[in-house]
Amino acid sequence: MPKRDVVSWNSMIAGYSRYGLPMDALCLFKSMQFAQVQPNEHTLVALLSACSELGSLSHGRWFHLYINRHDMNPNIFIATALIDMYARCGSLKCAEKVFKNMYKRDTLAYNAMLHGLAIHGHGHEACDLFLEMENSGVKPDGVSFLSLLCACTHSGLVDKAKWFFELMQMAHNIKPRLEHYGCMVGVLGRAGLIEEAHALIERMPLEPNAIIWRSLLGACTIHGNVELGEACLDHLCKLDPENSGNYVLLSNIYAKTNRWDDVGKLRKVMRERGVRKMPGCSAIEVGGVVQEFVMGDHSHPFSREINSMVEEIFRRLQGVGYIASKEEVMFDIEDEEREWALSCHSEILAIAFGLISTESGVLITLVKNLRICGNCHSLVKLVSRIYSREIDVRDGTRFHHFREGTCSCKDFW
Ligand code: ZN
Ligand code: ZN
Repeated sequence: MPKRDVVSWNSMIAGYSRYGLPMDALCLFKSMQFAQVQPNEHTLVALLSACSELGSLSHGRWFHLYINRHDMNPNIFIATALIDMYARCGSLKCAEKVFKNMYKRDTLAYNAMLHGLAIHGHGHEACDLFLEMENSGVKPDGVSFLSLLCACTHSGLVDKAKWFFELMQMAHNIKPRLEHYGCMVGVLGRAGLIEEAHALIERMPLEPNAIIWRSLLGACTIHGNVELGEACLDHLCKLDPENSGNYVLLSNIYAKTNRWDDVGKLRKVMRERGVRKMPGCSAIEVGGVVQEFVMGDHSHPFSREINSMVEEIFRRLQGVGYIASKEEVMFDIEDEEREWALSCHSEILAIAFGLISTESGVLITLVKNLRICGNCHSLVKLVSRIYSREIDVRDGTRFHHFREGTCSCKDFW
């Protein structure tokens, strides 16, 4: 373009941010400043959303300061983007502060706050906020109820979830979408009400998608229901044949019920169908730089130091009696590389890097693309205790705050 105005810069920044290239969005903002084009509120909303995507609290804070310094009008859109950024970057406190300071709140602002409470597992607070929302006359929409159901799922509040599911249809005339059904199946299944969850799927007016079947399969895994689990996998093989997660879940049911032959058969089917595991990837921010780690990656410049840190972690964990659970590792990798590959799960590499590159006492925050596995979850709990470190992990599902050997999810995720 011979000449670019704020609108063209904004479109490009928002495009990067929306399509999974948050780093490029932030870089483009630098070029925009060099070109001496003044950003407006739309620029900042797009940039804050890039920070959320990246999980970069330091960049997010910087933009918050930028907004204050440049006396930009802290309107409802910017405030909502700030709430979302703080919540998704791990600072629920700051999100709440921004929310409380808003002089006027609309549905979107409430939705951002509800979503924040949901991913941090604050189910009861989300319910309270909903009451406040109703009392102040702000109308909830489908997204508000989705966050509420999601909050109930993460906190195991079955009755509340049922109540909200009824309320949205009866009092607010909102037709549940697939995502709402997905949450309901999740909350019922996790509570062990597997038959009720199955019945709900059977009578839904929409065609259930892979997410819904996977949610039921996940519940079958927790409660060791082999038959229904196999039925779920049948559906999943038609709807989402490439996804290795389906096979992993079923294999976990087999392992849990000691059906090792079936585990072997399933692995063979996976190989024949050419199903591959999606690589896990964890990002950590140290000194304002976001670094990414993938399983088994040794290309990092500090790879040697990271590896010896990983070894040290394992030595110290074994000292306190840590044993990796066989069920989960079993399916992950070939047996001979089991021990090593487990230590190489991307979040462990990122945490090892965090431990060597930050001062003691500094909070370690990571963002992981997939759900954290049970082994890594217990491992990180112990690391938080042994190294006296607070560790926050945002995985594919929710936030985990590891403190002194426990996690805020109370092992429920
Ligand atoms: Zn893991
Ligand atoms: Zn957790």
